[in-house]
Amino acid sequence: MDEKHRILKEIFGYDQFRGGQEPMIDAILQGRDALGVMPTGAGKSICYQLPALMMPGVALVVSPLISLMRDQVQALRQAGVAGAYLNSSLTPGQYVKALENAYDGKYKIIYVAPERLLTDRFLEFARHVPISLVAVDEAHCVSQWGQDFRPSYLDIPAFVDALPRRPVLAAFTATATPKVRQDIRQLLKLQSPEETCTGFDRENLFYQVQRPSSKKTALLECLRSFKGQSGVVYCATRKAVEDVCAFLRQSGVSAAPYHAGLESEERSHSQEDFIFDRVQVIVATNAFGMGIDKSNVRFVIHYNMPKDMESYYQEAGRAGRDGAPAHCILLYSGQDVMTNQFLIEKSRETEGLDPETARRMIQRDKERLRQMAYYCQTTDCLRQYILRYFGQDAPERCGNCGSCQDELEKVDFTNQARRVAACVRETGQRFGAGVLGEILRGAETEKTINWNLSRYDCFGSLSHMSRREILDAIQMMIQRGYLAVKEGKFPIVQLGPKAEGLLAGQEQVEIKVRRQTKQNQKTSRASRQAQAAPNPVLFERLRGLRSQLARQQGAPAYVIFNDATLRQMSGQAPDSWAAMLEISGVGQQKMERYGQKFLDEIARWKQEQGG
Ligand code: ADP
Ligand code: ZN
Repeated sequence: MDEKHRILKEIFGYDQFRGGQEPMIDAILQGRDALGVMPTGAGKSICYQLPALMMPGVALVVSPLISLMRDQVQALRQAGVAGAYLNSSLTPGQYVKALENAYDGKYKIIYVAPERLLTDRFLEFARHVPISLVAVDEAHCVSQWGQDFRPSYLDIPAFVDALPRRPVLAAFTATATPKVRQDIRQLLKLQSPEETCTGFDRENLFYQVQRPSSKKTALLECLRSFKGQSGVVYCATRKAVEDVCAFLRQSGVSAAPYHAGLESEERSHSQEDFIFDRVQVIVATNAFGMGIDKSNVRFVIHYNMPKDMESYYQEAGRAGRDGAPAHCILLYSGQDVMTNQFLIEKSRETEGLDPETARRMIQRDKERLRQMAYYCQTTDCLRQYILRYFGQDAPERCGNCGSCQDELEKVDFTNQARRVAACVRETGQRFGAGVLGEILRGAETEKTINWNLSRYDCFGSLSHMSRREILDAIQMMIQRGYLAVKEGKFPIVQLGPKAEGLLAGQEQVEIKVRRQTKQNQKTSRASRQAQAAPNPVLFERLRGLRSQLARQQGAPAYVIFNDATLRQMSGQAPDSWAAMLEISGVGQQKMERYGQKFLDEIARWKQEQGG
């Protein structure tokens, strides 16, 4: 066995590299720069941690978030690797101490915040110890095109230039757009890097879109099927976070809120409770997530549709980082499209830009929103849709998403669609979707009364449909070209290119709907599958032992062993050190620390089985 496989097994407990890891590691070991574009959970950390252990000197890892650094260093220590982090969470005393240790050569890997790099003290240190490698995590932060631009990432090349000898530079990100990749190469000044872009598919994730009449009921229903498992519920606004969190608590679910409006203390409290499994669910805005390394997140539910596929895939991708099955469910309503449209109009991102650039940016955001909305409405395979969106080819059906599993029924929708179009025409193509919905339903609201909208023939012509159903129908008709949106201060729904044919009776409109009764069965069957460890009883016991050990150590449970490891352990029920070491995720150090305890628990369980 060669050296790198030996370290992979002994330190990290794995037999094989995952796709993309080996080329990155080989390049770094040969002294070449590297750029790895891999989805969340693909295993980027090992790409730089493993070479760091094999190269003489210290590896620096530039990382944007304090929580991420702490977690990674904790995980390394569990595996028997001496690491440290240097960021603003340390007191001046701790910082000096950590640097002293570093001078003494006690660490192989040091995580450092980008803001530290050019400080006198840190530069002084970096000039006096041999630096083998500078790894840049979340490298898209260097790009202003990315969502998480961090100005001090631009200091990295200056820092590297200030070193007596140029170390290898390796950058990693999960953001794949060519523009961002180009920025990373240029702004970090990578020198003909070895590039790996692994596939974006996450096979263990099950995707589903639900269009419930009550999102709250649907949410509870989902949580019921994920009993005892950890998950994230994403909401679009702070208000929605507060509201949903309160609702869940009333319903007996242990939940904590997270959004940028909370005191930072409360925020980190929520985050820790979640990471340490003291609460089951974290209800959060998109402020939560980057750098959250919790690997046993079993579900990510979107209570609102995000603004684009990039955001969705990144947030949903926080599920199942350990490779075990996990669910990504989006609770959609037509209203979500309108909310996002409003947010795009009101966005401050375009402030200070010249009008032409601002217009193009808004246009781009709207196009992205349209593609996101389409994901929520398509009855085609969702995985295929995602992968094609990111420019990767994919088979027609994956067999592991809501569309592939649902039984769909074709329903004739021509009549209803015609009534919607007729309403748009009759009322003069001057209302938004919301008001049209009120007219079609025949609702007596402030607007319909004040503006005397009941005078139209179409008033109440779809009174049997709910507000949500009508809004969904309008969105569907926009997608298919029966209607169109005219942008302005408020988006106005007008007739689309295919409206004439529809109104003249020359068009058939069919929609596919999920058979309602079966849908719920499917959800729970899928989630039972996700839950089913090969040996659920033993799995639960091992999980119990793991929490107990985690509590004693003040470490999150998954840094001891992740869910995938426990799953395999419960299936194989090893009875010796050798057998235990065969389990993926059990390295030498962890074996020595915890192996016996887990072997004992397995032996006790076996005895109870026999006796
Ligand atoms: P990323 O940073 O790409 O999101 P991580 O580095 O956090 O992903 O790795 C995700 C999970 O995959 C971790 O639990 C890690 O231990 C596991 N992992 C990494 N490499 C391997 C491998 N070669 N075999 C099995 N599991 C792996
Ligand atoms: Zn599918």
